[in-house]
Formats: sequence, C-alpha cells, structure tokens
Amino acid sequence: MTELPPNTAKKMGLVIDLDTCVGCHACVISCKGWNTENYGAPLSDQDAYGADPAGTFLNRVHSFEVQPAATAAQPAPAAQLIHFPKSCLHCEDAPCVTVCPTGASYKRVEDGIVLVNESDCIGCGLCAWSCPYGARELDLAEGVMKKCTLCVDRIYNENLPEVDRVPSCVRTCPAGARHFGDLGDPDSAVSQLVVERGGMDLMPEMGTKPVNKYLPPRPKDKLEEQIDILAPLLAPVTETPGGFLGWLDKALDKLPGQSSGQSSDQSSGGTA
Ligand code: SF4
Ligand code: SF4
Ligand code: SF4
Repeated sequence: MTELPPNTAKKMGLVIDLDTCVGCHACVISCKGWNTENYGAPLSDQDAYGADPAGTFLNRVHSFEVQPAATAAQPAPAAQLIHFPKSCLHCEDAPCVTVCPTGASYKRVEDGIVLVNESDCIGCGLCAWSCPYGARELDLAEGVMKKCTLCVDRIYNENLPEVDRVPSCVRTCPAGARHFGDLGDPDSAVSQLVVERGGMDLMPEMGTKPVNKYLPPRPKDKLEEQIDILAPLLAPVTETPGGFLGWLDKALDKLPGQSSGQSSDQSSGGTA
C-alpha cells in the first residue's frame, strides 16, 4: 500500500480533442520514439515484424465507428469515426499508486505526475489490474511496469529549445488535437479550453478523478440542401464562354483540324 499526496501544487496533464484527432498515430510513434531512448527506456518489442507482434507502448489510439441515433430532423444520420488516444490520465485518486506493494508507483507532490520507480517495481502487475483505463503495460523484456511519464524529461528540460518543452505527443500531433498544461490552474489555457468545449473526465464513475480531459466531438454540420460543388467549375464550358476563356476558345477553334463552333473542353487535346 502506497500513499498518495493529499494535494499537489500543480495538476499537469493533457487535454485531448476528440473532434480534431484524425487517428494518424503520429503521437503513438513519437511517444514510443522519445520514451524508448529516454526516461524509463527501453520500451521493448517482441516479434515486431513477425506474425504475432507485441510491444510496450505508453500511448495507443483506438478507433470506433459511432452511429448517432435517428431523430425527426435527421432520420438517417451519417456514421461518425471517433479516434480515441489513450495514455495514463495521471489521476488524483490513482488506484495504481495505492495498490502498489513496494512504493514503486508514486504521484509527485510538485506537479501531480504519476511515475514508476522501476528499480523498486517487482512486476506483480497489481497496478495494471487496478487501473480502469488499461493505461499501464508490463514490459515483457524487463519485467517492470511502464506508463506515460508525461514526458517528465522534456517538459522541464532546459537543454531543449523552449518550444520543445512539452510532451513529445503534443509537439508531434499534426492536427493540434493534444494540449498540455496545468489543469489545477483555472486560468491556464488548458483549463479555459476545457470550460469552453465542455471537457470531460473518462469514466468518472470509477472515482479516480483523472487529471487529463477529453474534448467531445462537435456535431457534424448539416446541409439544408444538396450543393453541386462542381457546378461553378463547369459553368464556363457549359455556356458560351466570355473573357479570357472566350478568347481562348475562339483561338483554339481556329487551329487546323478544328470544326467551327464552340470547342468546349475537348479543344485542349484536340490538335494532336
Ligand atoms: S490512468 Fe491508470 S495508471 Fe494512470 S494514474 Fe490513473 S489509474 Fe494510474
Ligand atoms: S506525454 Fe509523453 S509519455 Fe505520455 S503519451 Fe505523450 S509522449 Fe507518451
Ligand atoms: S497525433 Fe494527433 S491526430 Fe494523430 S492520432 Fe495522435 S492525437 Fe490524433
């Protein structure tokens, strides 16, 4: 049994936008890349290119197709793809810490980050069993527990340019779907974002009080009428063209081998 700090000075965490995540897995790769060479390294792989590959990842993306319920306004709503990145949520009431028999799992007082001291980890797996989110992975090569470190070796690292002092996944995400900051400070950019977008806890009924938040997908736009998006582009060749197109049409029409009259779009390849 390991104790949690009653309070932490900060609540550093991630805000993940399910509306803009495109499921590209760039965060998964950058997380694996950074963490397999830095704090808590290595993250092992088994049979990586074989028939039954396995490996340790601190961040994974799961994709789901969701079918919204039919309503009177939308009797046949389109299905939505939701990409759901998942890593440790650095919970305030982290059961993975309190269940740890050696004190290897702990929550930092200064910033609330949950970490594993691997030299004290005996690989019993109790923390993985107690985590309701499946956010811990036992490294099969080392026999110790691995989890998201919130890139603790980047965010305070004065050897890195300031722009890189954020988690690797946040720095990498091409969609800008991942945000990092102090969720204990109501004035921080991440806290404001959570308020604006109705950020939510994952499985709040578990009582873990996750620090990380998820921003829900926005409802999809609904077109009141069908729009033919090609119509404006085709209009110049379906009517008698004027301006430059008119001049070009007449000029091409005078080339040898062209019949008189409107040449339309066939004129561009008609002289060969
Ligand atoms: S998400 Fe799981 S591993 Fe992370 S702090 Fe919460 S209970 Fe622990
Ligand atoms: S914060 Fe760091 S360790 Fe955690 S998921 Fe992102 S890249 Fe991985
Ligand atoms: S990198 Fe960004 S967009 Fe790509 S899967 Fe991760 S969170 Fe989603």
